[in-house]
Amino acid sequence: MRRAWTPDDVAILRCMAEEKTGVKPIAIKLNRTRDAVTRKAFGLGITFGRVIGPFFTPDEDAHLKRLVNGPSATWKMIAAEMNRPEASVRKRAPRLGLNKPFPKSYGLPARIASKPVVLPRQRTCLNCQNIFTPAHDKLYLCKPCKSTTNWKDGQYMVDVL
Ligand SMILES: [Zn+2]
Repeated sequence: MRRAWTPDDVAILRCMAEEKTGVKPIAIKLNRTRDAVTRKAFGLGITFGRVIGPFFTPDEDAHLKRLVNGPSATWKMIAAEMNRPEASVRKRAPRLGLNKPFPKSYGLPARIASKPVVLPRQRTCLNCQNIFTPAHDKLYLCKPCKSTTNWKDGQYMVDVL
């Protein structure tokens, strides 16, 4: 039971799609299947893509950056501060390279988020035998040793062995 689309139907479709109404409410409103609405919309070049607000201005980007780098920000707080949907700022931040400095606790279940941070264990420098805390697990030289000329020149192994 296919009904032809009347100009009125199309107008309603366009209007509702423009207001970012989902396919479902439009389908209900027009008493058509979601498939039918989707097909028609596609034919008309209308998209229902989840639009999460207008583009960020450079000012907003800068603002977002400041907020994300702030001490105790959460996406929710940032979104409220920027007067944008949370999804919008969450999507924008990584594009500005801002995903990493974000507090680790956010978005994780509380039990994981509250886990103590495991710091790298101390180890003995292979060169000078001093105890140091490696910045990452693959580090076997203390900072002073690593920055010595020998090491940089690749002579370190020879000198130690
Ligand atoms: Zn050392």
